[in-house]
Amino acid sequence: MSAILSVSDLTVAYGGVTALDGVSLTVEEGEIVTVLGANGAGKTTLLLGIMGAVPAARGRIQFRDTDLSRARPHTRLASGLVLVPEGRQVLVSLTVEENLLLGAHLRRDRAAVRSEIDAIYERFPNLGQRRHVAAATLSGGEQQMVAIGRAMVARPQVLMLDEPSLGLSPLFVSKVFELIQEMNRGGLTIVLVEQNTGKALSVAHSATVLELGKVAVAGPCEALRNDRRLLDAYLGGG
Ligand code: ATP
Repeated sequence: MSAILSVSDLTVAYGGVTALDGVSLTVEEGEIVTVLGANGAGKTTLLLGIMGAVPAARGRIQFRDTDLSRARPHTRLASGLVLVPEGRQVLVSLTVEENLLLGAHLRRDRAAVRSEIDAIYERFPNLGQRRHVAAATLSGGEQQMVAIGRAMVARPQVLMLDEPSLGLSPLFVSKVFELIQEMNRGGLTIVLVEQNTGKALSVAHSATVLELGKVAVAGPCEALRNDRRLLDAYLGGG
């Protein structure tokens, strides 16, 4: 395996508050890395920093052989870094199809986009049946599928998911984790921010635990799964 994404010494401050303080993270191609931590630990800020959606005070973002540290978010997206933000951010007044097409705005291969969207409808018949209906009428779980589908249409090389299971029914929590594993089996590299520690550790290969903007622990999930005391110390169980 080789690193597809390397974050080194990333530091982000909001005004006077340092939200991320010298964080490093290596993501190997084809793996699922989960980022864990209590509320306010800096997980969302890490993903936003990788996308360039918040300015970094310090640090380096390397994607394969390219240094993206100073690249605009648009360039990072075009390189294959794609974020599904917390709270889904589906445009509820647009239809399911219009939301999915938003993911394709950088693409010119219309026929391929069409067949990928049709494959999403096949995978999620509920979305197919409601392709021309406003996304507002979907459940939270279905909207999360639309948000992930929209990201997939952008052809990610690294897919970043910010708390995709948050607020979903148990059925949809399972569906989201199944989908994450399915996408990964297809070769996709995934960075998964989760509050659902148990589920995240069961699907991911490696984990990084943030505490107050710093890396508290990092390593293979297997080791962390077996160290409940350590997990409880940083995450309060889960
Ligand atoms: P959560 O699980 O609650 O989403 P998190 O681990 O994702 O938490 P962040 O959202 O990255 O944490 O927040 C890290 C720190 O930065 C927190 O102290 C938070 O209050 C602060 N913060 C986040 N966004 C902003 C902002 N836009 N302006 C000021 N402070 C912010």
